Amino acid sequence: MNISDQLEKTALENPKKEAYIFQGGGVSYQEFDASVTKFASTLTDMGYGKGDHVALVSGNSPLFMIGLYGALRAGMTVIPINPTYTVDEMSYILKNGDVKVVITMDMLFEKFEHMDSHLNVGHYFVGDTGSGIDLDSSSLVGKMKSFTKSVAAGSLTYDKPALNRDDVAVILYTSGTTGKPKGAMLTHQNIYSNASDVADYLSFSSEDRVIATLPMFHVFCLTVALNAPVMNGGTVLIVPKFSPQDVFGIAEEQKATVFAGVPTMYNYLLQTGKEQVDTFRNMRLCISGGSSLPVALLNAFEEQFNVRVSEGYGLSEASPVTAFNPLDRPRKAGSIGQNIRNVKNKIVDELGEEVPVGEVGELVVQGPNVMKGYYKMPEETAVTIKEGWLYTGDMARVDDEGYFYIVDRKKDMILVGGYNVYPREVEEVLYDHPNISEVAVVGAPHPELGESVISFIVVDDPSLTEQGVIDYCSAHLAKYKIPSKVEFMEELPKNTTGKILRKNLREKLAQS
Ligand code: AMP
Repeated sequence: MNISDQLEKTALENPKKEAYIFQGGGVSYQEFDASVTKFASTLTDMGYGKGDHVALVSGNSPLFMIGLYGALRAGMTVIPINPTYTVDEMSYILKNGDVKVVITMDMLFEKFEHMDSHLNVGHYFVGDTGSGIDLDSSSLVGKMKSFTKSVAAGSLTYDKPALNRDDVAVILYTSGTTGKPKGAMLTHQNIYSNASDVADYLSFSSEDRVIATLPMFHVFCLTVALNAPVMNGGTVLIVPKFSPQDVFGIAEEQKATVFAGVPTMYNYLLQTGKEQVDTFRNMRLCISGGSSLPVALLNAFEEQFNVRVSEGYGLSEASPVTAFNPLDRPRKAGSIGQNIRNVKNKIVDELGEEVPVGEVGELVVQGPNVMKGYYKMPEETAVTIKEGWLYTGDMARVDDEGYFYIVDRKKDMILVGGYNVYPREVEEVLYDHPNISEVAVVGAPHPELGESVISFIVVDDPSLTEQGVIDYCSAHLAKYKIPSKVEFMEELPKNTTGKILRKNLREKLAQS
């Protein structure tokens, strides 16, 4: 089984059910599935199929969903790419990923005009967003096809490719810890099993209406807010770009039952949503992942919106989910929860030996969701997957009930005079301060101590001083963990997924 076949099945079982809602308009599973088949037949007729790579460069939209499922149905491998990437970032992936076809939107097309001569792209399928951009005089007009017309012109019959569970369905480029982005190859089995295991663990049903505001090119949205609901005939509520007002609006209008977001989104919703609490009245579950959800934020959110927040954990290389707080057992604040079905997490020391309960080590993962490897990077693959376990690069511990706790990224640990400081511990304390709304802690080189702790904060009370923050930390943290410097910022830098960019903060320190 793969997710495209699963869609066919869902459409047979729930033909009239809304598959997605975009800009107020709903599209049924029957219509969605037909568009997917038609697009697949167009691709097949043009000679594309198994072994060919297609880049999907788009914001959250029906084009993304039809493009993804259609290309998979044609047997192609899909490479979703962040549309905000620069020409250099994008052309690296298109080249490294041997991309032959691009699916994108008119608004983004200029980028491809700049890079096409360095690439090996045969065709561009371009969506018309109603932006009025005229592409008739584009230098690439000969390679360009209207996405909408290509879907409409397709046939409802096509030559079904013979796919195996180990064929690569999706390649996700992740920034990794060092060097250039690496393409994590996720097979049909990887993608299908994780969507189905997540859907099962979180009890997704055809009654669910799931807000998709995380970017669809990111694996968190792809699996949790797109593939998992589609598995069971749920409805995807497409929000092109995150804003608290849009989330509250769609939650209310469409009676959303599930929201998936990263902690910074929870923070924005909490800060701006005191009068909007009622819009979440149909919500049965809020899912957090992508980075650690501060306990103070989780508690405040649950209380304000009267909804359960369940934190989970994942990474691109694991399609992505490995652990989640369960629905039928207690959820533990600060924990990423327990193993989901079919997946094993364990904590190991430097030698790869499992450490005792409660001890910190590296989190390693095993299951049908673990990637095949990095595309064309066997050495990188060999250091990441060892003896059947995926090394996550995250430090964690587990309690005696099998709940895991992420301590921090291995590479983010700060070494102060020989002591380990995990930024998360300091951040949790600062998040507990009533007047601090955002926090990130990084290490900076220090002549005597090796490194020192620096905190960047966003405050909602301008009278808070650096000394005030340091005094507050002194009451809660050992001396070596107390920030030696506090930088006040209007806003913390974040990527399009909403993760705080500590790298940019380190660069800022280096420049000052
Ligand atoms: P990505 O491959 O972009 O999905 O990023 C994966 C990384 O996000 C993981 O290796 C973790 O460092 C981080 N991450 C994901 N979920 C959590 C979580 N619940 N708590 C802490 N870190 C997380």
